[in-house]
Amino acid sequence: MTNPNPYAALATDAVCGLSPYEPGMPPAELERRYGISNAVKLASNENPDPLPASVIKAMQTAVEDVTRYPDGGSFVLRDRLAAHLAVEPEQLTLGNGSNDVLVLLAETFLTPQHAAVYDEYSFVVYRLAVQAAGAEARVAPANPADHPQPLGHDLDAMRALVDEKTRLVFIANPNNPTGTWVTDEALRDFISSLPAHVIVVLDEAYFEYARDADAANAIDWLAEYPNLVVVRTFSKAYGLAGLRVGYSVSSAGIAELLNRIRQPFNVNSIAQAAAIAALEEQDWVSASVARNQVEIDRVRSGLEVLGIHCLPSRANFLLAHCGADAAECHDYLLHQGVIVRPVANYGLPEYLRISIGTGAENTRLLEALAGFRNS
Ligand SMILES: *Cc1c(COP(=O)(O)O)cnc(C)c1O
Repeated sequence: MTNPNPYAALATDAVCGLSPYEPGMPPAELERRYGISNAVKLASNENPDPLPASVIKAMQTAVEDVTRYPDGGSFVLRDRLAAHLAVEPEQLTLGNGSNDVLVLLAETFLTPQHAAVYDEYSFVVYRLAVQAAGAEARVAPANPADHPQPLGHDLDAMRALVDEKTRLVFIANPNNPTGTWVTDEALRDFISSLPAHVIVVLDEAYFEYARDADAANAIDWLAEYPNLVVVRTFSKAYGLAGLRVGYSVSSAGIAELLNRIRQPFNVNSIAQAAAIAALEEQDWVSASVARNQVEIDRVRSGLEVLGIHCLPSRANFLLAHCGADAAECHDYLLHQGVIVRPVANYGLPEYLRISIGTGAENTRLLEALAGFRNS
């Protein structure tokens, strides 16, 4: 493979081996490319609902102060978040999105002498963070397609890759891009089985969507498992993807290490203000989650009618099995102004990941897919 970039020879091996994250296409780009208007984006698992007025107001107020640096310790946000989660503020590490926290974990605990474990179909940022740290990536095979959690995490396979060199294990629950989940019992057994030098990074980006009445809260397990780090975000159910605020909850010891290398002002002042206001809007979050449940069922049945089967999902997206013409289907949808996410880069060329949008957006998607089927 020839590398046309003359500076590549100067870069670290870790960086030379990286291919960058491919974000979902912004609607404006699609509109420029194909000369269409009213494109809808169902590609990045954002919350499509309009934000509560209180959150908009908080951002507008914060705008007035952007000549000043933000509060580097995010004092008020940490305090409110700690109260909301019933933990101590010292257990929190705030990030510029939870992506930032995932990278901090890799930078803190991984070196070229160490290894990290993740699933073959899990969130690509794990791979990027591990590779950037120059550490060994151990990729566990996922469940087979006929498993009750098809293509989901196989915790036994992950456990088999853990040894003295292993420092981090990444688990997304529910997982992106599959939407699948692991049971509380299986997760606890897995964490209990690990040696103390292995830190479990439990990525719960879709926690609010996954919640059902009898589900456990992994934050309650922290006292029992000091090597557990729970990572969550304001990007999904809280609707603040564009502002970049995420966090981890861990033992105070782990948080203290992460905070040593965190950039001093990694969460900007508008993001802090919006997250503080959003925490007060739990009814809005619940209503949004309830609307997602109704719509995800409707989209799933609509796809089923078209002969497209989706994996089980406890998140705000579906992984749809489109078969050999998934790429063609993706292209057709783009021409109809509907942006979904191809997942060939995840090793899933026959699937498309479809985020649940507003009712009208989901109807656009179903109509466009029906058009593809009849084309
Ligand atoms: C969306 C997502 C995140 C959140 O990323 P942010 O940086 O907080 O926006 C983290 N993990 C998974 C599995 C995700 O799907």
